[in-house]
Amino acid sequence: MAEYRAPTEEQLFVLETVADLGALAALPGFGEATPELAEQILAESGRLAQEAFAPLNALGDREGARFSDSRVTLPAGFAQAYADYAAAGWNGLSADPAGGGQGLPFVLSVAVQEQFTAANMAFALCPMLTLSAIEALQVHGDEAMRALYLPKLVSGEWTGTMLLTEPQAGSDVGALRTSATPAEGGTYRLKGQKIFITWGEHDLTENIVHFVLARLPDAPAGPKGISLFLVPKILPDGARNGIRAIAIEHKMGIHASPTCTMVLGEAGAPGESGDCIGWLVGQPHGGLAAMFTMMNHARINVGNQGVAIAERAWQDARAYADERVQFGAIIGHADVRRMLMTMRSLTQAARAIVIANAAAVDRAHKSEDAVERAYWKRRADLLTPISKAWGTDVGIEVTSLAIQVHGGAGFIEETGVARHYRDARIAAIYEGTNGIQAMDLAGRKLRLDNGAALEELEAAIAQESAGWRDAAARGAMEAALAMLARARTAMLAHDHTGLGAAASPFLALCGGVVGGWLLGLQAERAATRLAAGDGDPAFLRAKQASATYFLTQRLPLALAQIDGIEASPDQLATI
Ligand SMILES: Cc1cc2nc3c(=O)[nH]c(=O)nc-3n(C[C@H](O)[C@H](O)[C@H](O)COP(=O)(O)OP(=O)(O)OC[C@H]3O[C@@H](n4cnc5c(N)ncnc54)[C@H](O)[C@@H]3O)c2cc1C
Repeated sequence: MAEYRAPTEEQLFVLETVADLGALAALPGFGEATPELAEQILAESGRLAQEAFAPLNALGDREGARFSDSRVTLPAGFAQAYADYAAAGWNGLSADPAGGGQGLPFVLSVAVQEQFTAANMAFALCPMLTLSAIEALQVHGDEAMRALYLPKLVSGEWTGTMLLTEPQAGSDVGALRTSATPAEGGTYRLKGQKIFITWGEHDLTENIVHFVLARLPDAPAGPKGISLFLVPKILPDGARNGIRAIAIEHKMGIHASPTCTMVLGEAGAPGESGDCIGWLVGQPHGGLAAMFTMMNHARINVGNQGVAIAERAWQDARAYADERVQFGAIIGHADVRRMLMTMRSLTQAARAIVIANAAAVDRAHKSEDAVERAYWKRRADLLTPISKAWGTDVGIEVTSLAIQVHGGAGFIEETGVARHYRDARIAAIYEGTNGIQAMDLAGRKLRLDNGAALEELEAAIAQESAGWRDAAARGAMEAALAMLARARTAMLAHDHTGLGAAASPFLALCGGVVGGWLLGLQAERAATRLAAGDGDPAFLRAKQASATYFLTQRLPLALAQIDGIEASPDQLATI
């Protein structure tokens, strides 16, 4: 297996062309986010990813997290690598300076997280969840809460988690039963059980700050009766809180990420109180909205996991294709080159979507004009389910192709590519399954505004791509936009069942069109640079080749989803 090499040249090119980092740096508060600083940051994070995170990946997969007596331990080396990560201040990159952060754009944090995740996805999940917790606290926490918890989360001294899922409440979060009863001094007593909690318990830090969804006594039924609570493992007075892990799961992948069953409000070890004390975050019954702050953040980061693991798998497959000799080096065979080109173009398209999404989040926060902020918020909201679902589907397809490029060796654990495939699989499931993302896109993001935000995006794509010098690429986008408009019309005409049946094909079509646009945009910038003799010609020509391949061979597959979008749901009636 090839050693992971952080793809900084590609990432910087995407930040410059897709995120327009130069313009982002002109927004208030982002003055330091220059392309030069981005280059320094990515070089530094790339080094840590390569030298500290990547060497632990195979070990973490083989040994995994261990559970014994309410404690979770990680394999040797994890604690030191986490300490190095925290000491370098990576959690604070895009956090609010008021809480000790650097206040740099979210899009830079996403690029950095791609590197850590590619190097070791199971490990990188721990900081990823902490970043979402920081975001929730910044937006919804009161002043006292922020003062107490933000600095320690930002410094990495403590980590954060999200506790939503219960045995009967998975996608249907509104079915959760964990209760929260008002107690003394504005606190609450929580009682219940949560399952599948990522990094719910571990030995890397002294304290863990849990964000828990629960019901108040007077809560209405369903999602409107959910409130969000902050529940620390160690209370501010130093006592152990009554929240503990009682088991961890044995999983298909991400073995070094402990997936915990947690009990709240039950007596633990002798001498430990069973009381689980929490503090309300945001408004009573406003928990789902508050949790969505965390989840929207996390959904972009999970889409980014798809990109990261695809990049890792692509690097391994590309290196193996040079080494393996069957009728000559297998890189010489057209079918192997087809697989590699598919892997590269899909990975680059998914990266571009995630980066465009994160940059839209930044502009929605920092643009000076309220109309502009609203415009970018609509864009960010629309792209989030696409980043998550399309990005993670790409992760699965590309890691599967990496196995294929390796032949039988890919199926054998020693080469490591099987691990990428096993790790990639979860990203399509957690943080809302990809089916739920498709419903979010089709229902909340498309239907609620009668398609206006999507039409706005279509207009932006049309305007930008009309100026491309490559006539074939221009033509491909014209055809794609016509199909997208047709798909939008079909979606808006569906009843509830029809919408559900067409949602996933619709998301796949949208992902293909947006990915094609953003690759075409990069090819156009590559052509400008080539003409000016600016940059590495091999890199720039490879960008053009990825775009051409995607626009001519993958985009048509995405457009063929129109059949599923326009089909009658009656076809599904006789399962
Ligand atoms: C490794 C791992 C880590 C996790 N980490 C966390 C964590 O840190 N915190 C946390 O709270 N949870 C966590 N989860 C839980 C995860 O978010 C859920 O597993 C996920 O949301 C799906 O819920 P479920 O497993 O109950 O599947 P179900 O909800 O039972 O879904 C089964 C199938 O039905 C489909 N489906 C369900 N409802 C609908 C609908 N309305 N329309 C269309 N299709 C539908 C789904 O798409 C899916 O295909 C984790 C899970 C795993 C496996």
